[in-house]
Amino acid sequence: MQFATDSQSFAELGDAFFTRLSTTPLPSPYWVGTSDAMARTLGLSEPWMQSQEALEAFTGNTVLPGSRPLASVYSGHQFGQWAGQLGDGRAILLGEMSAPDGQGWEIQLKGAGLTPYSRMGDGRAVLRSSIREFLCSEAMHALGIPTTRALCLTGSDQSVRREEVETAAVVTRCAPSFIRFGHFEHFSYNGQHAELKALADYVIARYYPACADSANPYAALLEAVSERTAIMVAQWQAVGFCHGVMNTDNMSILGLTIDYGPFQFLDVFDPAHICNHSDTQGRYSYNRQPNIAYWNLFCLGQALLPLINTDGGQDEAIAALEPYKTLFPQQLEMRLRHKLGLADSQDGDKALIEGILKLLAQNKVDYTIFWSRMSTSAASNDWESVRDLFLDRQSWDQWLALYSERIAPTDRVAMAALMQKTNPVYVLRNHLGEAAIQQAKNKDFSELERLHKLLQTPFTAQAGMQAYAGFPPDWASKIEISCSS
Ligand code: AMP
Ligand code: MG
Repeated sequence: MQFATDSQSFAELGDAFFTRLSTTPLPSPYWVGTSDAMARTLGLSEPWMQSQEALEAFTGNTVLPGSRPLASVYSGHQFGQWAGQLGDGRAILLGEMSAPDGQGWEIQLKGAGLTPYSRMGDGRAVLRSSIREFLCSEAMHALGIPTTRALCLTGSDQSVRREEVETAAVVTRCAPSFIRFGHFEHFSYNGQHAELKALADYVIARYYPACADSANPYAALLEAVSERTAIMVAQWQAVGFCHGVMNTDNMSILGLTIDYGPFQFLDVFDPAHICNHSDTQGRYSYNRQPNIAYWNLFCLGQALLPLINTDGGQDEAIAALEPYKTLFPQQLEMRLRHKLGLADSQDGDKALIEGILKLLAQNKVDYTIFWSRMSTSAASNDWESVRDLFLDRQSWDQWLALYSERIAPTDRVAMAALMQKTNPVYVLRNHLGEAAIQQAKNKDFSELERLHKLLQTPFTAQAGMQAYAGFPPDWASKIEISCSS
């Protein structure tokens, strides 16, 4: 593996944006997991991915050719409050490489030691949370949801203190860019407008080239980021994904799901569900995610204001945020429509969707199982297995009557096909991840591998894997996932 030194483009932004440093080695590393899919994307061969050289490099114990590691500085709003300077406190960018298809990928180690931005932290990540990030990054990608990726995961017996003593791990993350809303906020709040402009120009040139042709490229950038964010959050809502910590420093400028911490896929459909045990106010509950994303975009708009409205006004920035308000609901409605097998839109579809979501909430129906049974029922035209999920059968029957009328003229084969590629059979539920984690703590990574593999094809039922598509066990609702990671 070779980093292209001359194309470490983030580094070209200059010293104000990062600090050069070295990763801190971990003793006797071992492999915990590898994403063959990501390795293939990067053009990394299987034998090399299994080599001692790769193991040491992806633990931060050696430096790969061409790599000049750095940690970047950013700021952000955390739980609605301005938090000031944060930065890569435990993520270290190794450099950028070009995949065989020409796509540029930044490679970052999470948990590879202290940086100047570690604040009170230790620069480490524990095995438990690293397994969750590794699994979820690759699972989200397989679901078709924009996300940072994970190439591999290594561990070491070095102890790391959290609530309990745990062990260290390092996730190798990959993304075209790890720039966050918080990077813009950082330079804006510090009055560093030249750096703010350099950053915006860099992001436009590399990732949003069409914005450069706009009369106001920075307003166009804000609008384009809003669009990507709307699409990403609509996908989260449709699949039942809760991020858990939507602080502005955890929002990707590319509209990628980033920084997997206390995330959760819904078990029962509870719109007010809070997945982060540290989120006592429920700021980041499932049903608030769309508004929080907008709030975060507003922060980005404020940060970009000196570039967007050079006359001191706000109108162009506000106008750039406006499309989110229509695009998000459109996107969500389209995705939910597809989950119902409805390819085209008709009057009354919105009511049909609202009706079923209300019933799911009232009857505390398991979200993934509901949709997955809908797919199989559409193929057989036998809705009994879905009906079984509802306590209030009468309301279900009423809804089904409306739905049956709506789908009467629809081609069933095409409808079932649409539903099957939209409604996953398997998602990374908390208890599934937890089982893999408990085994991994005893250095048995077989469950982790099984789960990782299963989640690569989430839309296809696989022989012998029924348990992974079943209802969560009672203990699942008692799993407490906090910001501690
Ligand atoms: P998070 O809530 O995980 O996105 O983290 C918020 C900020 O805290 C980021 O700047 C992280 O880099 C930093 N941080 C979190 N955990 C650690 C740690 N163990 N060591 C150093 N910095 C950390
Ligand atoms: Mg973060």
